[in-house]
Amino acid sequence: PAHTPAMDAFWMPFTASRQFKSAPRLLAKAKDMHFWTPEGRQILDGIAGLWCVNAGHARPKIVEAVQKQVAELDYAPPFNMAHPKSFELAERLIQITPAGLNRVFFTNSGSESVDTALKMAVAYHRARGQGTRTRFIGRERGYHGVNFGGISVGGIVGNRKTFGPMLTGVDHLRHTYDPARNGYSRGVPLHGGPELAEDLERIVALHDASTIAAVIVEPVAGSTGVVLPPEGYLQRLREICDKHGILLIFDEVITGFGRLGAPFGATRFGVTPDLMTTAKGISNGTVPMGAVFARQAIHETLTNVDSAPHVIEFAHGYTYSGHPLACAAALATLDTYAEEGLLTRGAELESYFADALHALKGLPHVIDIRNIGLVGAVELAPLAGLPGKRAFDVFLQCFDLGVLVRTTGDTIAMSPPLIISKAQIDQLVGTLADVLKRG
Ligand code: PMP
Repeated sequence: PAHTPAMDAFWMPFTASRQFKSAPRLLAKAKDMHFWTPEGRQILDGIAGLWCVNAGHARPKIVEAVQKQVAELDYAPPFNMAHPKSFELAERLIQITPAGLNRVFFTNSGSESVDTALKMAVAYHRARGQGTRTRFIGRERGYHGVNFGGISVGGIVGNRKTFGPMLTGVDHLRHTYDPARNGYSRGVPLHGGPELAEDLERIVALHDASTIAAVIVEPVAGSTGVVLPPEGYLQRLREICDKHGILLIFDEVITGFGRLGAPFGATRFGVTPDLMTTAKGISNGTVPMGAVFARQAIHETLTNVDSAPHVIEFAHGYTYSGHPLACAAALATLDTYAEEGLLTRGAELESYFADALHALKGLPHVIDIRNIGLVGAVELAPLAGLPGKRAFDVFLQCFDLGVLVRTTGDTIAMSPPLIISKAQIDQLVGTLADVLKRG
């Protein structure tokens, strides 16, 4: 049936800006690099759904695996029992995670992965007799999902303001974006990283280090505009955390599974965190799934119930942790990534994508361009008094021209499926260029 304004009444909007009343943007079908609207209009997917469909839409292996799984075992409780694919998936996943991150806890989303990791950090310290370590350090402009833990450590003030009080004991590192340093950066900016990371010492000095549980950062901040860490920044954060016994959490919900041209941001930057949160690309967005990867020592501390009394069990988990359909989708996704070399394809296409993006420099209102792997951002000068409006108008015009991008503030973000061809990169960035030229 046709979409009518009356239908709008029944579901709660994600955000007010969806503007469905005037122009519904419905997606009815998807395959490989494209969506189709109910009217049959083809849309090139320039953002992999929502940074998640890394292998492309409706890939045959993944479709088949999910269909087979639902008929065979539709559900298995994750408490006190399990099913074979959850073990198989954990084993397969740790073959591609950075060495040392070899324990897996399944969740159903990025937000759940984040709150799981925060709880793991506190429980780990407590089990080791360091129950005072309950503080967290996030970063300005950090995005860690929408659950209470995630918005507390997240650095988007607007996401917090209507929901307080937050978790107590959270500080935020200064964000790393500085146009003088990061502006028009092709890949990682070369200098200034270690100095910026010293901001962590500033925060540690405000409190007793023995009260701090963990630092959480995205290796590349995605949802707040593709903000790259200057070279040496993540390494220095790692050193300072080690010095003070603070756990380091990388939120790799976007950066994981090939987005940066390597399996994970940790792989790309050569820095291994203690906990790594993932979701999205783990199951190609086909079935909701997330996972937290932990160092073995953390897992052992959290599950060593035999050495009571000082060791506690990690009382945490979800009805759908390791859901059979999600595991089946994720296994087939990993097969597809491996067979097609997708986890490193972003490195092969990085300079082609960068050339296309950086050719937009000089078009009306473009004030910055950033890229790494197969993720890129074009930042526009905001319209006075109407933050986000300029980019949103560009998004609408691109959609009308058959290309899906995403906006975050006045930044246009692109993160296409990793199967994108060079001709499709030309179409994606070329359409954006055509819209920007309209001024
Ligand atoms: N962390 C990061 C870094 C993310 O980018 C996102 C989602 N964009 C999340 C957490 C939350 O994931 P979800 O929407 O699956 O809860």
